[in-house]
Amino acid sequence: MRCGSGVWQDVHQGSNWKKAKQHIARIHEHIANSRNDFLHKLTTKLIRECQTISIEHLRVGNMIQNPKLSKSIADASCGEWVRQLTYKASWYGRTLRVAGTFEPTSQQCHVCGTIHPEVKNLSIREWICVACGTHHDRDENAAHNIKQVAV
Ligand SMILES: [Zn+2]
Repeated sequence: MRCGSGVWQDVHQGSNWKKAKQHIARIHEHIANSRNDFLHKLTTKLIRECQTISIEHLRVGNMIQNPKLSKSIADASCGEWVRQLTYKASWYGRTLRVAGTFEPTSQQCHVCGTIHPEVKNLSIREWICVACGTHHDRDENAAHNIKQVAV
């Protein structure tokens, strides 16, 4: 078929391209819906089961600029996660406490309070406090600190 512009175009190939494009769009929509559904179920479960929830306010905008973190953070829908927890806490009469951005939650030993600036490096997933000898998982230690700071 000859188009008005003088460019030859295979009609069937064009049609297949549109179908493929629509198919990919449906897959992306399905992924977005699944993620949103999962997030809603999880935030509702947390709010129903817990009287008080403590979270850390992360500067997601800054973290997304870090190429190592950006995809996982964007995938985790952190902003939407906090938004849902906030309004559902209000609906169910729950308390949502937020630890400040500048609290050293991942660097401070939750047992003795010693701060270890060298642990700020995100590649360090486990560490031992030189002051009290406690072995820490980075995320679990941060969770303990977030709980203490938010309370
Ligand atoms: Zn310690």
